[in-house]
Amino acid sequence: MKFFKPDFELQHFSDITKEWLQQHHVQTIFSDLDSTLATHDQPGDDDLKDWIAMLKQQNVQLVIASNNSQARVDRFCKPHGILGFGKCKKPSASEVRKHMTELEAKDETTIFLGDQLFTDVWCGKNVGIRTALVNPIGQEHEPIQIVFKRKIEKWIKSRW
Ligand SMILES: [Mg+2]
Repeated sequence: MKFFKPDFELQHFSDITKEWLQQHHVQTIFSDLDSTLATHDQPGDDDLKDWIAMLKQQNVQLVIASNNSQARVDRFCKPHGILGFGKCKKPSASEVRKHMTELEAKDETTIFLGDQLFTDVWCGKNVGIRTALVNPIGQEHEPIQIVFKRKIEKWIKSRW
């Protein structure tokens, strides 16, 4: 079960601070969207705005990598002025790897951030980059299939 263990276990995306980024030499963050940065299908709150502003100030590129539709990703990304890709087929590495190559993101300075073991953490591991797991935001609004996955995740985490 250790296979699914992320490199970093955080409470919330805002635990990734300026200092944290410097300490871990992070220049690019590929991030899941729903329940990682915002409640399912919502635009994100003021904490997120502040966090994105901090990343920009630090020259850290944030790239959304979601399995949700490109339309959802576009609606989310536009107001924040960030780059994002939908239909990423996580946990497959192919789409994320393709975008990393296009953006010239280096393996050593890129992390994958997400709230799910079987899509996000696994994807990061398949790509071969460090992974950071956060607690899901707005769990009460999640679709039923995700609620089911959470139960399995809980079982795996209890065996780390
Ligand atoms: Mg998610």
